[in-house]
Amino acid sequence: MAPTKTNKCWICGRTSDEVSSSVGRPPEALELDSRLERMEDLMAKFNRASAEWGNLVPEQFKTLDYDFIIGNPAQFRSIRFLNEIDDAKKSIVIPLQVAVGNVRNGADATLGGVKIGPSDRSKRKVLLKEIDDFERRTGRYLNGSGGNGDMPHGFAGLFIGQGLSYLRETGLLYFTIQEKLIEAEREDEMSRRPVFAVSIAKVSGLSGDVPVCTVCQNLVTSIVPA
Ligand SMILES: [Zn+2]
Repeated sequence: MAPTKTNKCWICGRTSDEVSSSVGRPPEALELDSRLERMEDLMAKFNRASAEWGNLVPEQFKTLDYDFIIGNPAQFRSIRFLNEIDDAKKSIVIPLQVAVGNVRNGADATLGGVKIGPSDRSKRKVLLKEIDDFERRTGRYLNGSGGNGDMPHGFAGLFIGQGLSYLRETGLLYFTIQEKLIEAEREDEMSRRPVFAVSIAKVSGLSGDVPVCTVCQNLVTSIVPA
């Protein structure tokens, strides 16, 4: 029968919540927790750093093209954070573009260590929805190619300041998607995990039904011969 929230086990006196917390979390769940924590750290760092970029561009460069400046770092050495931009491009923008391309083509994809297989329906849905919303909101295709040409691609035609805000948005999207993918993995993990709860059961030797927790049910069936 369905587990109940408020009933206490007739044998050990614990509620469903008390029983499941006493069983502890499996290693897979703990691993997901620590991945989420690491990811949130990186997101906070990126959020802080990228918020400053726009203010750090010298006034005389503000009407220059983003791609031109980023493509000629030696000329623009006075922009101190160009190496940070390059890192963000390699570790965030490109991996995100590759993952989106693969998911849209129905192929295997990986994002920040989260694997997305062709049959991972919930993860694919999460990623595609976030990307579609992002492209609609920014009026640009994230990828450098593809699409039907009615919107610009990537950083094409953006001034440096606009490009930096777009990069910041892309980075925050990358982390948001990862967060949702890890949550989707967590839900998968929970649905595979055996449920420890109090449910109404028949105990041999007793007339009538009583609430018994999963742990005690297992003990009782192993103690009392059927
Ligand atoms: Zn019990």
